Amino acid sequence: MFTVFLLDGIDPAGVEVIRRSGSIEPMVHDKISRDKLLGIIGGADGIIVRSSTTVDRELMQQAKQLKVIGRAGVGVDNVDLDAATEYGILVMNSPGGSTTTTAEHTVAMLFALARNIPQAYRTLKSRQWEKSKFKGVELAGKILGVVGLGRIGSEVARKCQAMGMNVIAYDPYINPDALLSSGLELVSIERVFEEADFITVHVPLTDVTRSLINKNSMARMKNGVRILNCARGGIVNEQDLYDALKSGKVAGAAFDVFEVEPNTETPLLDLDNFIATPHLGASTVEAQRKVSEDICRQVSDYLLKNTVDGALNFPRLEAGTVERYQHFVDLATRLAAFIAQICDGRMQTVSIRYSGEVSEMNLNYLTSVILRSLLVPVLREGVNLVNAMHVAKQRGIKVQETRVPAPENFTNLIVIELKTDVESHRVSGTVFTDKLPRIVDVDGYPLEVVPRGHMIFFTNNDQPGVIGGIGTVLGKCNVNIAGMHLGREHEGGRALALLLVDNPVGKDVIEQLRQIPNILSAKVVHV
Ligand code: NAD
Repeated sequence: MFTVFLLDGIDPAGVEVIRRSGSIEPMVHDKISRDKLLGIIGGADGIIVRSSTTVDRELMQQAKQLKVIGRAGVGVDNVDLDAATEYGILVMNSPGGSTTTTAEHTVAMLFALARNIPQAYRTLKSRQWEKSKFKGVELAGKILGVVGLGRIGSEVARKCQAMGMNVIAYDPYINPDALLSSGLELVSIERVFEEADFITVHVPLTDVTRSLINKNSMARMKNGVRILNCARGGIVNEQDLYDALKSGKVAGAAFDVFEVEPNTETPLLDLDNFIATPHLGASTVEAQRKVSEDICRQVSDYLLKNTVDGALNFPRLEAGTVERYQHFVDLATRLAAFIAQICDGRMQTVSIRYSGEVSEMNLNYLTSVILRSLLVPVLREGVNLVNAMHVAKQRGIKVQETRVPAPENFTNLIVIELKTDVESHRVSGTVFTDKLPRIVDVDGYPLEVVPRGHMIFFTNNDQPGVIGGIGTVLGKCNVNIAGMHLGREHEGGRALALLLVDNPVGKDVIEQLRQIPNILSAKVVHV
């Protein structure tokens, strides 16, 4: 039974999702002091928050069994992502649930901006009938420039097309072919700046998008342009916007978000042509319910089925990918476990080559699988898929990844080469149509072995008597040989053998095997 803490007043619909899973106990703490939370967090397998609780390194240090942090909604400014990755804690959010709501809010702001609704309302409330002062503009026939055509941007675009606006959009990460049937025109950012009557931003706040709209870009815009930011504070430079609103270059602006929040002090609020809401984009009954249900389902699926959806510190995978490519995940896991056990010394470089069909998968994910498998013998539960890359980097292990889309000798092939400070080995594996993982090469010696269970890996000089000697020692020690695979350079040269055995093999047996003349090394492997 897992325990998940639900904090910050998560909508009860999500609590119900957790409860229905049957194997997770939901513990709801709508309002809990930091000290009390630090005292009990050790019992949580998962926590779900909105924006109030600070999930920082100190909290994670106390949360010894925490596996997943869920954010109902989008922003994870209150979660220390780096610390979570280091501790191997998965962080997820649920952005999809607030798409419609935020798009509707943007459209509401667009109307309010075009028709001066907030200003007119304020004067009427102060008992003034100011009809001529608030003459607005129509939206129909105007050009709307949408910057960022993701979930929200594209829904805003659709709604505005329906209102008769001509929509142009800028998003360098969208393939224009995907928009063919939408009637949307994907254009350069310059054209958005130069042609739009209204510009609305729907991008994440990144180093590239910070101050994307600033005094230089505003100088290129039409006189009397109107600007909306219902995405993230800082995408529109507030000081530059203030100057442009004051000069009349920008006729009006509508913000739902600010560089600093909460914010009641910004000079923008002194301007009559600036309207704003206090970050209400996702604040509807429906969105709160949807984001809560979504994140609770994601967290419960992760804990109970190990499925990852909406993760922020984990390689992104299309739905169903892991299931569809499970045989490659299994192959990668076994190859890495194998090579980790035949290689002595401190790991220095891991080179991985993926070729053929396997290279279609998200390779970050497979590389994380391989690194976890390499590091587990050393770090046990200290490493998982979330932190495997980070841990490898921290330990100074160089990871090289090559993708070769065309099949080489096999329709799919994973080759792992591991270099340590004392030796290096290379293992290659493939999956045939029977979906079983097979080692097909070790250190250049072709083999064909399904790696499973207990094995002994030998290197030897190819001389008569070696295999007989191995059989004698194992027979004496009561170890039954289930299969034997041999490979050699040339007659009388270096050779290797991989034995599948039915029972675990103790150190004393390995010691005896090492004493056999012409045996160079003998190692126990278990995958
Ligand atoms: P999304 O990830 O679906 O879409 C973002 C889009 O921006 C993507 O298509 C991406 O290709 C594009 N993009 C990234 N960098 C770009 C760049 N430099 N130039 C142009 N396009 C770029 O995200 P979404 O769910 O649509 O959210 C959009 C924004 O809205 C985010 O900033 C999100 O945080 C914000 N948001 C605000 C509220 C609110 O309460 N006001 C609610 C939800 C989301």
